Amino acid sequence: MFVLPGDRIRCIEEFEAGEGVYEENGELYASVAGKVVFEGKRVKIEPANKIPELRNGDVIIGRVIDVRGSIALIRFERKVGQERALAKSFVGVLHVSNVTDEFLKNMEDAVGFGDVVKAKIVEDLKLSIKGEDLGVVKAKCKCGNDLVLDGDKLKCPKCGNVESRKISADYGRCCNGGKGSRNG
Ligand SMILES: [Zn+2]
Repeated sequence: MFVLPGDRIRCIEEFEAGEGVYEENGELYASVAGKVVFEGKRVKIEPANKIPELRNGDVIIGRVIDVRGSIALIRFERKVGQERALAKSFVGVLHVSNVTDEFLKNMEDAVGFGDVVKAKIVEDLKLSIKGEDLGVVKAKCKCGNDLVLDGDKLKCPKCGNVESRKISADYGRCCNGGKGSRNG
């Protein structure tokens, strides 16, 4: 298990705080980033110098921070299947050719500024949203209301505005990998 400073370390039994671990109100927390190691009745953190890196093929959740011409810039928020945000912020590039196998002229028909997207890393920071489960998972209308699915489009229930997107099959659903709350 990899933890970041401040993460609570879940222990089934009672453990004592070892290196890189501190206790607060009877709970154990990591004081450094690294790997959790259990040693007898002690739990310690083996410090890591780098955060586990993203690999090609990983699916991430990100936010569209810019759409210009044939590209969109997407800031990574987290890896699908992991609940916490990435420790380092990356910005990936989505090219219009990686949106769909069909012809798409305008990037604006696929993603909009501020949209939350599920995208796959194809190479370094190049992203793809080809595939049924990839694409926009959350989008807001210009009026500030959440857009809802309406056939193959997104519609604002408040002002009636209809928008085109490359919509993920997971649209409107939480996409943290099906895990429950980390505080529960
Ligand atoms: Zn609206």
